[in-house]
Amino acid sequence: MAHAALANGTNGSHRSLCFNNALIIDGTGRPATNGGLVVKGERIAQVGAINPEPDATVIDLAGKTLMPGMILSHVHLSYNHVNDLPDLDLKQPAEVATIAAVCNAKLMLECGFTSGLSAGALHMVDIHIRNAINAGQIPGPRLLAAGRDICQTGGMLDWNKSWLKLGMDGLGVFVDDPWAVRKAVRGMIKDGADMIKMYITGEGLLMECQQTELTCTYDEIEAMVEEAHRRNRLCSVHARSSESCQMAAKAGVDIIDHATFIDDETLDVIAEHGSFVAPGLDYLVSVLEHGKRGGFPWLGTPQDFLDKTSSDKELEASIGNIRKAYQRGIKILVGSDFGFSWTPHGTYGRELTHLVKLVGYKPMDALVAATRLGAEAMRMQDRIGTLEVGKYADVLVVDGNPLEDISILEDRRTITHVMKGGEFVRRPAAELTPAYV
Ligand SMILES: [Zn+2]
Repeated sequence: MAHAALANGTNGSHRSLCFNNALIIDGTGRPATNGGLVVKGERIAQVGAINPEPDATVIDLAGKTLMPGMILSHVHLSYNHVNDLPDLDLKQPAEVATIAAVCNAKLMLECGFTSGLSAGALHMVDIHIRNAINAGQIPGPRLLAAGRDICQTGGMLDWNKSWLKLGMDGLGVFVDDPWAVRKAVRGMIKDGADMIKMYITGEGLLMECQQTELTCTYDEIEAMVEEAHRRNRLCSVHARSSESCQMAAKAGVDIIDHATFIDDETLDVIAEHGSFVAPGLDYLVSVLEHGKRGGFPWLGTPQDFLDKTSSDKELEASIGNIRKAYQRGIKILVGSDFGFSWTPHGTYGRELTHLVKLVGYKPMDALVAATRLGAEAMRMQDRIGTLEVGKYADVLVVDGNPLEDISILEDRRTITHVMKGGEFVRRPAAELTPAYV
């Protein structure tokens, strides 16, 4: 990418670059080791006990950690500091959503997330952001792009009343019956989507469409899965109730977002079908923090907020169920609904902290969720997700040891270097001297 080369200095393909003397967390889940990593072109050439070429550029990382670029497996690049529902449609023309997404794509990289799995986009923004990233026009993560979200009439995203006669393009595409779903999926694929997302339950803050209300039929979910998989695309659902998650797993949905109120039977079904789960704990933690501060005045006082949403109980249920899922070996992903005013973009690292401090994850397992499992969910495990020879050099340098304190990943100043495909997208200014570039 020319912009990265100009801004930060690049690892020219003629010469190798070597990180040395680091603690290496390779993303596989194996214990950390001490060693180095050699980058040749866009790939990892050596890792561990290395033997770099004599003319290799060497960066000494004493006291620092080397790990794979992280993967945000539920991201909405076009969500733009959303405060209320109109910020998700009426106040967001495609132009504004696009500008937000361009900024957020760059921010993701700076925070150490070199890949992302879109969970829905206003208009068709993510598809075009992905294209611009891949063409080297703007900096951003490797992105599997979703189109607009599929939802049913009266479902969670269908919040604008019929009498408004809006007929607008925005976040949701509203379709009913399996053949209408099939057509919506086919249209999304035609326009370039890698990922199809459907909303099948409501949400705690939406009084008229709650988390436990199922808004579609099994046949509609199955129609999405069939059409997406026939064309080798991924699909996901927004689902918070046990019934909805069980239906999604049985229908073969790849990623279940949230899975908040799942019971033991549903955990078994999810485990049996191998669906990934992206709980998005940070959204629940942040909603609760924000609500207790009086952040949702349309719901009344902080106490009214708790009475109406039971947000505290929802978080408790989610933590308990994700702990059970973790113990059963269900593949949990790192990602959440960043982009609301109470979950601003750039705070992605909080999700790893919640997995460790609230759910009881071993720090190494949280790192695996943010790297290897994310790559598996993207079906790119042969190219990204771990520090192994032959994979893309998507590499982070962390000042400190995230195994000792996972929360250091919340502060992007701790992530001193970010490399994507062998090119630096973040690097200390002190290294930008002729000896390095
Ligand atoms: Zn989301």
